[in-house]
Amino acid sequence: KTETEAILIGKHEVLPIYIPRTKFSHKGDFGHSLIIGGSYGKIGAVTLASKAALSIGAGLVTAYVPKCGYIPLQTAFPEAMVITDADEEIITNISYEILPTVIGLGIGIGTNSKTVEAFETFLKKNKIPLVIDADGINMLSKNNDLLKLLPEQTVLTPHPKELERLIGKWKNDFDKLEKAKQFSKKHHIILVIKGANTITVFDNKLYINTTGNPGLATAGSGDVLTGIITGLISQGYKPLEATIFGVYLHGKSGDIALEDFGYHSLIATHIIEYLGEAFKELF
Ligand code: AMP
Ligand code: MG
Repeated sequence: KTETEAILIGKHEVLPIYIPRTKFSHKGDFGHSLIIGGSYGKIGAVTLASKAALSIGAGLVTAYVPKCGYIPLQTAFPEAMVITDADEEIITNISYEILPTVIGLGIGIGTNSKTVEAFETFLKKNKIPLVIDADGINMLSKNNDLLKLLPEQTVLTPHPKELERLIGKWKNDFDKLEKAKQFSKKHHIILVIKGANTITVFDNKLYINTTGNPGLATAGSGDVLTGIITGLISQGYKPLEATIFGVYLHGKSGDIALEDFGYHSLIATHIIEYLGEAFKELF
């Protein structure tokens, strides 16, 4: 066993991470986020993540979705560009001609065998920084060999069920953290244990977030987090810093939105809409 350091993350810790904007910035400075995901009936997840990536400051956002996602995405979120798969309902072949800065992958993508194949082929050739969530994580859990294909410091953002599939059942919270630490070390990845007080695990350190509330336990909340972390990496934050800062801002935005909507009525869209307030609250 190695020594583990636990660090509480509040405003004081994220302020030094923050990168201010200069007068002469242009959108090319803030990268191009590619969000890959969605399947029939789950295009909303990609819409939320894409909106979150742009709302946290990415320069450009492109969504890669099955054909059925084209109209809903362009309509609900005109700021995004859209690339479609050859298939109507699921992703069967991940191919594009853009050069993204970072890729957020897995939300709403499903685990159809054709999608799993497309995911494997993609991982074998991809060199771009990755944030993987939801069914992207589930696909990794089903085939551990794929973990070897992940770029260093890939960010994985499992909720409790996804985490269990990924690292196996744990006996208690200490055991969970130990397993998470070993997993992160073995595969050189940044592991985000989502929940109340989300914990980011990397390099024998635990970063314990202090923002957020049970109002965030709502559909699409995690998709927004994926978009936030992707959008931060897009504009030049290092993966670990993007993750710590992103988890903080997601929770802070939820805390501010809570004042207007309360625990029950807060929905994922509100988290996106209050990101600006969350930024302002830093200063
Ligand atoms: P997902 O289950 O993928 O939609 O992700 C849920 C998101 O909401 C994660 O970022 C969690 O950390 C957050 N969340 C869920 N429940 C709570 C809670 N009780 N308190 C604070 N944050 C929460
Ligand atoms: Mg989720």
